Amino acid sequence: MKSQNDLGVPIPANKPLVVRTIKKVTKEQREYALKKTEYNMFSFPADLLFVDFLSDSGSGTMTDLQWAALFHGDESYARNKGYYVLLDAIRDTFERSDNPKRAINLILSGETNVKRLMDELYLTSFEGGFVNGGVHQLTRPNAFIVPQGRCAEHLLFSTIAPILREKDSNREYYIPNNGHFDTTEANIMANGITPVNLFSANLLDEFPYDQMDNNNPFKGNMDIEGLERLIQEKGVDSVPLIYITITNNTAAGQPVAMKNIREVHKIAVKYDIPLFFDACRFAENANFIKEFEKGYQDRSIPSIVQEMFSYIEGFTISFKKDGLANIGGGFFFRDKGTFHKKFSIKEDIGIKLKEKQILTFGNDSYGAMSGRDIMALATGLYEVVQEPYLNERKFQVRNFARKLAQNNVPVILPAGGHAVYLNMDKFFEDSDTKPDDFRGVGFTIELIRHYGIRAAELGPFAFEWDKKSPDQRKEVLNLVRFAVPRNVYGPSHIDYAVAAIIELYNNREKIPKVKISRGAELRLRHFQTGLQPVYK
Ligand SMILES: *Cc1c(COP(=O)(O)O)cnc(C)c1O
Repeated sequence: MKSQNDLGVPIPANKPLVVRTIKKVTKEQREYALKKTEYNMFSFPADLLFVDFLSDSGSGTMTDLQWAALFHGDESYARNKGYYVLLDAIRDTFERSDNPKRAINLILSGETNVKRLMDELYLTSFEGGFVNGGVHQLTRPNAFIVPQGRCAEHLLFSTIAPILREKDSNREYYIPNNGHFDTTEANIMANGITPVNLFSANLLDEFPYDQMDNNNPFKGNMDIEGLERLIQEKGVDSVPLIYITITNNTAAGQPVAMKNIREVHKIAVKYDIPLFFDACRFAENANFIKEFEKGYQDRSIPSIVQEMFSYIEGFTISFKKDGLANIGGGFFFRDKGTFHKKFSIKEDIGIKLKEKQILTFGNDSYGAMSGRDIMALATGLYEVVQEPYLNERKFQVRNFARKLAQNNVPVILPAGGHAVYLNMDKFFEDSDTKPDDFRGVGFTIELIRHYGIRAAELGPFAFEWDKKSPDQRKEVLNLVRFAVPRNVYGPSHIDYAVAAIIELYNNREKIPKVKISRGAELRLRHFQTGLQPVYK
């Protein structure tokens, strides 16, 4: 008899506590709503959908422990208790491996011993890691809480850009990444720096769907040779930071191998350039390393996370990913590390960042977060590294991709960590389709219209193919993403979506081209333009 772990399906990790009824909306009602909202996915009312795969960002179900933690939220203006709990949860998650302190339990259990609270939580001193504590966080701030990942990006890039210009106002600066997320790319560009994508060369290689449980080519990796070439061609002084996104959202949510992180780290050290993570989905990335990278099968998720972060100098993160919380973001850098050294020119870079944080998001102990959201987030950091949860989630996404592949729908394989991506170049390869026909957008419109399912185009429309130079155009992938929110959907939702996607694929010649009817020139336009499908 096979054991519980050898059945080929994950052991259920949780069960729902509360459910929400989905409304019975008709096709005619959706058609009317589409017209009234200019056919833009981001403008369509969520309550009128059956299944929503627009994003896995902040859309997860919180656990019972997170809901319970909300009640411990402290809405004090300065130094709410959750601030201390969150900072220590971050040390636990990224630095302490299998020896977490879990200072959060002091609060959740109602500890009344004041001396203990002062010694172990409120007045403890830390330095040398990603989160200074006590007086060191005051004199050398290095932890910045903000409401979203993009706020962290804004904080970072808008603070370093003037420093770089002061260093050398004529130089052009480049920030390479294994795949910039759209807001990262936009924030870098808005500050006059050029983002460069160094996708792994094997990204669009074929992969057999029946091999997904057996091996993984880590297609999210950074192109190492491309990185060295960039540094040598542009000059070391032109590359202020190197970024790795884990998992690589823009490159179809594919994971990054520890080996690749180590290799990039080596190059970063060689040229003395700070290496950062865009750390959204660090837990899912760690789970891929555990399953597929040699030597990690017996390691715990926390110890893999700790090793990953040991190679970097800092990270921006959206806490809306990985099922951590419904809101939150942050920027953290290594105390007295390369980033600190390179950017503290006239003034400590941490002090500068803190000034900007106060100007834009409020003081550093809440950073535009409510006290209750801070508590839910701190609790979430301990929930998302649980293996049964990670395994079940990974299996759900993988199964979604497998069912599509079995029906010949062109899906990127193997499946990534948080989403299933369709390759729209292949989807429409038997028809005469140009990138700026935006037929990937047409597909998402038809999905809502006929079946009440929402997905996102991440291709020529979202990445503004028509506004780019011929060189930049080569970097634009043509994908549609089905992001799976965490702990929200079960097999019935996935089966419904698979059936709908197959039906549209089999009728793909009927999928319209799409014209931009309003706002083609806007920045991050996929959030705001008006669209018009053109039916033959
Ligand atoms: C979501 C995301 C961001 C931006 O975070 P927000 O919280 O949405 O602002 C940055 N990078 C990656 C890889 C993301 O997935």
